[in-house]
Amino acid sequence: MSGAPVSTGVLGARQAARALGVSQAALRRAGMSREFSVSEVQRLGEHPPEWLVAQRSFVTQAYRFALDPTPAQERALTSHCGASRFAYNWGLALVKDRLERRERVRGAGYRELLDDAQVERLARGVEVPWTLAELRREWNLAKHERAPWWAQNSKESYSSGLDALARSLESFSDLDSKHGRRRGARVGFPRFKRRGRGRGWCRFTTGALGVSSRTRIRLPRIGHVRTHEPTHKLQRRLHAGSASVLSASISEQARRWYCSLTVETQRNDRPASRPDQIVGVDVGIGHLAVLWTHPDDRVENPRALQRAQRRLRRYQRKLDRQRRANNPGCYRPDGTAITGRRPSRSSTRRRATGRTLARAHARARHVRRDAIHKLTTKLAATYGTVVVEKLNAKGLCRAGNRGLRRAIHDAGLAEIRRQLAYKTAWRGATLIQAPTFYPSSKRCSGCGTAKAKLSLSERTYRCEHCGLQIDRDLNAARNLAALATRVAGSGPETQNAQSRPPNRRCTENPHKTRPRRAAGRP
Ligand SMILES: [Zn+2]
Repeated sequence: MSGAPVSTGVLGARQAARALGVSQAALRRAGMSREFSVSEVQRLGEHPPEWLVAQRSFVTQAYRFALDPTPAQERALTSHCGASRFAYNWGLALVKDRLERRERVRGAGYRELLDDAQVERLARGVEVPWTLAELRREWNLAKHERAPWWAQNSKESYSSGLDALARSLESFSDLDSKHGRRRGARVGFPRFKRRGRGRGWCRFTTGALGVSSRTRIRLPRIGHVRTHEPTHKLQRRLHAGSASVLSASISEQARRWYCSLTVETQRNDRPASRPDQIVGVDVGIGHLAVLWTHPDDRVENPRALQRAQRRLRRYQRKLDRQRRANNPGCYRPDGTAITGRRPSRSSTRRRATGRTLARAHARARHVRRDAIHKLTTKLAATYGTVVVEKLNAKGLCRAGNRGLRRAIHDAGLAEIRRQLAYKTAWRGATLIQAPTFYPSSKRCSGCGTAKAKLSLSERTYRCEHCGLQIDRDLNAARNLAALATRVAGSGPETQNAQSRPPNRRCTENPHKTRPRRAAGRP
């Protein structure tokens, strides 16, 4: 770290902040004094503690705002999302067509008794656009004829549709341009998108986009759109130069428009308030989380979906009745569906029911998201070390009945872990993930003996060895917390998901369309 040139042995807060590459506010939050000796700053610069590393790094994060567009703006938003979908479908049709043509060339070649190499050379003569650049080139040649109205929407809308297609094709070929093979389950060939199915979506990466006031977001071609929520937190960062907007995505879900701004920003969160304390987190269904040790050790599960279930069931039934009434030809007198006939006719009222149902689902989603964010923020803001279990939610779902499966999805267990990973990194805290088969529930947190069997219905853990009686989830949380001390004793952060520098993890955003800024930018 190159320090600012100084003659005296003491630095002011501003000089120290500049020398360390962080904001003055960050130093204040870290509890640093107002004056700094040069040697102290040098020491920090050479061996930056975790909070300093976190403060200095840029992360890519999204700021998502619900919008309140005017009717004209809503039409423009719809039009842009439709244009994006149009380009996607057009590109997919083109790719399919070219692939078929290639097959025909191959067939013809073999009929002519050519050898494999010759056939392949002929087949390669048919170009199949696969990347964004190739698709875009084809689109620019075809758009005047296929979509003479193209100029009504920003060119970004078509580009984002083609970009989505290129990504799907890349996933289908099971390759990731950055890392070689793709992780996760295999992906099928992309399918056509239908209007009204799934959410409309479109992304802008260039042009006039950003936050134009405390209540408005500026989008290219669409203008200044009113936001439902205040934007001032982001606006302040943009003004201060500690954040810049990379792209804006608009989407519609359950009759509400959203704008998600992808922002590169310098986080300056306070470091965890109790850096030396460890918390074991047993995530579950009965409670969202049980914490060892925390003053009030239970975090309620809002059970968002379960609470909405009665309403959802009613709307779903109503929807079905209306579908049957609209399409009498698709059902037998006893009510069973006739295979091969699609109930395609709808009515104004049925569409209205569909919207009500979507709103109810959206509400459940929002309640769940809110509870999880509050929990993870609190944990990351308080504890220096957080230990969670790496639950195999998929495996659990396969094992359980429908009620259990629904409850697991309702709790959003994997999401808790995902959020903890980045939030602890922002605060320079440590996240330890217990391995999947770590016996956190079966082991006695008092003496360490493990039971061979523990049924789900046993809510209290009773140890036959030492006689300990403790709540089942609390026992698990205590075991997880104990794991942290063991890991700390056995070398440097062996289980730590965040052993990489946090900035690398957070800026590795595969959806980013612009190159990363040069490292070490002040
Ligand atoms: Zn025991």
